[in-house]
Amino acid sequence: MSLSTSGGEPVQPMVSVSDVVQYFYCPRKVYYLKVLGVPFKVRRKMEVGREEDEREEDRLYGRKTVYGLDRAEVDEVLHNLYIEDSDLGLAGQVDTVLRLRGGEQIPVDSKYTEEVAVHRHYRKQLVAYSVLLERRFGTVVSRGILYFTKQREPVEVGISAEDKAALLKDLEAIRRVLEGESIPRKVSERKCGYCEVARYCV
Ligand code: SF4
Repeated sequence: MSLSTSGGEPVQPMVSVSDVVQYFYCPRKVYYLKVLGVPFKVRRKMEVGREEDEREEDRLYGRKTVYGLDRAEVDEVLHNLYIEDSDLGLAGQVDTVLRLRGGEQIPVDSKYTEEVAVHRHYRKQLVAYSVLLERRFGTVVSRGILYFTKQREPVEVGISAEDKAALLKDLEAIRRVLEGESIPRKVSERKCGYCEVARYCV
């Protein structure tokens, strides 16, 4: 699936950070959502997560720490920052970005789950946000934070240069799925029980 600009130069199809997350949950899920276009039904659990997230934002103002960091270190807290990078062919909206006094920027993503665990797809999401932030603001991002809303627990995740380099290969692999030439194989059945497209996937 190559696209063309009006000048005839080929451009790569845009991948969203959400595609990255779904791909690392299960590549077949991206195929169902983006190639076949099956509807994505937002679960009540996700809605509760969003509501909790908004309440958490309000609570931040009365605290001595911000997502586990000393408030005095934090210069600014940005919410819902949309970044699109056409050279990379990646776009996404970062839940929260912490800008520290020393100039460091840290992406934060909130999770509303039963367990506090850094799954691979969560980590890949933070890597994608880190790369977008670096390209947008020209600063090196070396860590992100997963905030487990239900447990009110922040977990810091280191982001290495290798993680960021791997993202480029990941984007190529995701684009091959988006081209839709073949259906990716199933992942472990354990994940299917939590999958929003399970009823379409046989
Ligand atoms: S039902 Fe299972 S195999 Fe199918 S897309 Fe979901 S996680 Fe993947």
